[in-house]
Amino acid sequence: MTVKKKDVRALTKEQLRQFFVDKGEKPFRGNQVHEWLWQKSAHSFDGMTNLSLSARTMLQEHFVINHIKVDQMQRSSDGTIKNAVRLHDDLVVESVLIPTKTRTTACVSSQVGCSLDCTFCATSRLKRMRNLNPDEIYDQVVAMDNESRLYFDRPLSNIVFMGMGEPLMNYNNVLKAIDKITSPEGLGMSPKRITVSTSGVPKLIKRMADEQVRFKLAVSLHSAIDAIRTSIMPFNATFTLADLREALIYWYAKTKSRITYEYVVWEGINDTQKDVDALVAFCRFAPSKVNLIEYNPIDDGKFKQAGNAALQMYQRTLEANDITVTVRRSRGKDIDAACGQLANKS
Ligand code: SAH
Repeated sequence: MTVKKKDVRALTKEQLRQFFVDKGEKPFRGNQVHEWLWQKSAHSFDGMTNLSLSARTMLQEHFVINHIKVDQMQRSSDGTIKNAVRLHDDLVVESVLIPTKTRTTACVSSQVGCSLDCTFCATSRLKRMRNLNPDEIYDQVVAMDNESRLYFDRPLSNIVFMGMGEPLMNYNNVLKAIDKITSPEGLGMSPKRITVSTSGVPKLIKRMADEQVRFKLAVSLHSAIDAIRTSIMPFNATFTLADLREALIYWYAKTKSRITYEYVVWEGINDTQKDVDALVAFCRFAPSKVNLIEYNPIDDGKFKQAGNAALQMYQRTLEANDITVTVRRSRGKDIDAACGQLANKS
């Protein structure tokens, strides 16, 4: 019988040290392996050159390294890069690297598919297959950091959890990945440069607040009126705006970190003054900022981006109420890399 070997990156540094102690080796071997795995992102045990051959063989006998593989890389005419990322069990997720004048932002996936059913999002058509492991999230970031250095001559500056999946539905692994990304023993990035975007799971927003996380929070709101939000984001029937609002008040009280709302304005859905007024009222509960994002059509033509008049009404009303508002243009549309377009088409 063959026993399936465990991924060595599921072990903590302490467990790695213990592994070597149990084998009659020095515990510091565990530190060396930990450094190879995370700081140096080793893909194999062979490459761990400061370990003895016997130590490497020991590792080989017990563990595997299930590193991701960038199967295909597409480049958009605007410089955006989309990676199709193959996992060890042959499932595929996508991640996107977005360069601007001053930043390069990595958009990472947290799940294969998604269990939410937002009607305007291409990923919702893929069934949720499984959660990504912390190392699979970490690997996406490392791959894009390398690409950023190679193509744009600078390291990654920001990370957004806006790829496939709902990060809070994979809470533990996402937080573990962020720990490694921000740790000096990992990539050492500042948590302030990381944004977790969620459709809003109230209980878990509160839990993040309790854990005093230091990354930023973005909420995909799209409507501050329950009936409308439920019609486009059906899970809102369970996690209602009142619950969300309460959780966000709690978040701000604990973290003092401003919330960003992502919001698309669609023709005939949320493009009236009443919709803006509801949004303004929602924003009053905690310091917030609204990011008006461009709609990226996902081919069935049910949704249509509202025209300039509606967008200007939103901008005007929000600004008149002292709410910061930004308008975000889509990037990478020509290669289906923009928000809501990730669906493993190729
Ligand atoms: N599940 C998380 C993160 C993934 S979606 C969340 O809901 O926040 C990233 C962002 O893209 C969300 O704000 C989402 O509402 C938005 N989005 C989804 N489909 C879109 C589309 N077709 N056009 C524009 N934005 C879209």
